[in-house]
Amino acid sequence: MNLNFKNKRVLVRVDFNVPLNANLEITDDTRMRAALPTIQHILQNGGGVILMSHLGRPQKKLNEDGSINVKKFTLKNIVAHLSDLLKVEVKFSPETVGKTAAKQAVSIRSGEVLVLENTRFQKEEASGDEGFAKQLSELADLYVNDAFGTAHRAHASTTTVAKYFDKYQKSFGFLMQKEIENANKVLNNPDRPLTAIIGGAKVSDKILLLERLIEFADNVIVGGGMAYTFLKAQGGDIGNSLVENDRLDLANSLILKAKEKGVQLLLPEDSTIADNFNNEANFKSQNSAQIPEGWMGLDIGKKAIADFSHTIKNSKTILWNGPMGVFEMSNFANGTKSIAQAVADATSNGAFSLVGGGDSVAAVNQMGLSDKVSYVSTGGGAMLEFLEGKKLPGIQAIEG
Ligand code: AMP
Repeated sequence: MNLNFKNKRVLVRVDFNVPLNANLEITDDTRMRAALPTIQHILQNGGGVILMSHLGRPQKKLNEDGSINVKKFTLKNIVAHLSDLLKVEVKFSPETVGKTAAKQAVSIRSGEVLVLENTRFQKEEASGDEGFAKQLSELADLYVNDAFGTAHRAHASTTTVAKYFDKYQKSFGFLMQKEIENANKVLNNPDRPLTAIIGGAKVSDKILLLERLIEFADNVIVGGGMAYTFLKAQGGDIGNSLVENDRLDLANSLILKAKEKGVQLLLPEDSTIADNFNNEANFKSQNSAQIPEGWMGLDIGKKAIADFSHTIKNSKTILWNGPMGVFEMSNFANGTKSIAQAVADATSNGAFSLVGGGDSVAAVNQMGLSDKVSYVSTGGGAMLEFLEGKKLPGIQAIEG
């Protein structure tokens, strides 16, 4: 962020898409806290900050008459808390762009903060509309993008707006910089062995990631629901476990490709299986390829934990995306917990570990291990796409 902020108005795209409860109270402010260093840096260096963000999906949840549900989705819901976090008064513009927004923006002086109304109140946001983006750009002298979580979307406030600022007038924020640097530690010249741990529900969500990992990882550990598609493809009996029958060929071709490349692809040797998809179901341990009808694999088993942990502990770089089982249910959380612990142990022995993407982040946070791994990404889909090797539009818009 080596821009000169002194006496400049700075349009900052943040990701304040925080969860709210029925009383419209923030239940987790992690995303807001993650953007504070950037906002504080600009304020301390003499800039005035104009914040823009989306909150929820207002266009998908319109009122019955087709209007926006302002009460539920207004960014005003976060203003008081932001003010507490920053310890400065935070102003609010009920418009995202328009006469009132422009008037309020112009009045922002060094050290002051204004929050614009939810960018997604405008249909033009998601279409990346140039007119809307230009109006946003006219509110400020400089543009900073710190919303890594939406960097994979070519929206007006994340991407299009950047083209109205030249390269000396725009920058990534600290969070965005950190996310890119940490992801690059895995992608560019990582210390080896590099082990990727991929879990979660579906193979189909992670095909591109798996294909790419097989190109450059030393070990690819596959756990979670997606493992059963691989196990079935290899001829195993998986009972009623989660399976994508239209991905069996793909699973086999990934296994073959890994062999050709000399990449070790590890599947769970055993599983904790249950006779129902709930925490009260009967459960027992079973070889993953011999699951009887009426039973389903809901977690990796003890042998798999030992096998995966051994590989993890011998790794120098670790990437983890997706839980090893249905960790939301306590009886099936052991695999995910144990793997989180193995990643934490490897990290304390000097490995670099990146936890990226949705539920594995939740698992690490839930276990209080987030400061025992090297980096926990804030961007689910964005991190996934970055690791898949895609050029994210929000990043390209700044880098040019
Ligand atoms: P994803 O969003 O693809 O990372 O998937 C996360 C979801 O996968 C979580 O809600 C888990 O409960 C679910 N999951 C993990 N393992 C299994 C499994 N063995 N069977 C069914 N769902 C699973």
